[in-house]
Formats: sequence, structure tokens, C-alpha cells
Amino acid sequence: MRPELSIIPEPDRSTEARKPLTAKQRAELALAQGGRCGCGCGGKLDHAGEGTVDEHLNPLGLTGTNDLANRSIWRKPCSDAKTYGTDLPAIAKAKRIEARETGTRRERKPIPQRPDPWPKGRKLASRPFQTRAANDDRRDA
Ligand SMILES: [Zn+2]
Repeated sequence: MRPELSIIPEPDRSTEARKPLTAKQRAELALAQGGRCGCGCGGKLDHAGEGTVDEHLNPLGLTGTNDLANRSIWRKPCSDAKTYGTDLPAIAKAKRIEARETGTRRERKPIPQRPDPWPKGRKLASRPFQTRAANDDRRDA
């Protein structure tokens, strides 16, 4: 249970807007990396072929900034693996934790239930046992 008022300041959870690198910045970064992928796979950057991405090493969604120190040129396949395999799940988890911590989690709607056809303690309607002869009599009448 969270107290109504806290002396602990709320953490800054704002995210910086995405800012693409200029062509010059991209070229300088790629040069500084020796034309190799920034992820460490050793693959050559192929800007025209498979494509390259200027990655945020610490994603914007997780306190990352647009600083050049947080940027690196990655091959597209390596970038996709990081973005979709690591970053987006981590950002989603951070959002879930934040929603839990701040109490802004969406209420769940209960699943509608149909009435129980076999409630506990239900008495079966008892019918007197009827002999074959009694049935025959009823039919004849
Ligand atoms: Zn790579």
C-alpha cells in the first residue's frame, strides 16, 4: 500500500524524443567504429545493402538519451534483434512495473459467468418409483 504523500521525490520517468543523427554524425560514428557493426558481431556495415541503424545503446524508453555517447551504428539484423528481442520487452516490463507502483494499472473486467446449473445442496426432484404395470395402466386410461 502506497502512502498518500511521500517525502521521496517521484523519479523522472519522462523520455526524450527520438532525434535522428545527421548524415555527418552517422558517417563519423561509422568511421570511429572502423566500418564494423557497433554490437560487436564484427560484421561490416553495409549501408546500401542490408541497411544500418543508429542504435540507442540505452533505449530512449529506458532513460536513454540522444547523446552521441549513447549512439552507435549497427547492422539492421543486429539492431532488430536488440530492439525487438531485448529493448521492447524491457520497456513493456518497465511500464508494467510503473503502472503497478503508481497505481495506474487498468482495472480488469470480470469474465461474465452463467448461473451454476448444479448449485451445491441442490435437491434432485424425486419421483415415485413406478412399476411397469402402473405405466401400462396410465397408458390405457
Ligand atoms: Zn552486429
